[in-house]
Amino acid sequence: MRKVTAIALDIQGRICTGCNNCVVACPVNALELTVINPVTKKKTYNVLNGKAVVIDEDVCNGCGICLMVCPQRAITLTTESSV
Ligand code: SF4
Ligand code: SF4
Repeated sequence: MRKVTAIALDIQGRICTGCNNCVVACPVNALELTVINPVTKKKTYNVLNGKAVVIDEDVCNGCGICLMVCPQRAITLTTESSV
């Protein structure tokens, strides 16, 4: 059985509208929609309306649900696995 060893989730801030769908759908609350901090700019992605989706990669389990609910197809999930 293959075991997932690494998960990378990427959100294209250029096309994300900040609709919040992915945040609501995530079963483990790994995503958070927040306003960009103009001072620190940490863990944020620039989006058209000045909002940002923040990912807690330690919590994300790679289920892929957020990809399916994104109307913009802005989310990409990459996993690495080993046998
Ligand atoms: S892949 Fe699953 S666990 Fe990870 S952020 Fe998306 S919905 Fe949440
Ligand atoms: S579902 Fe897509 S468009 Fe909506 S906030 Fe999430 S990444 Fe952005």
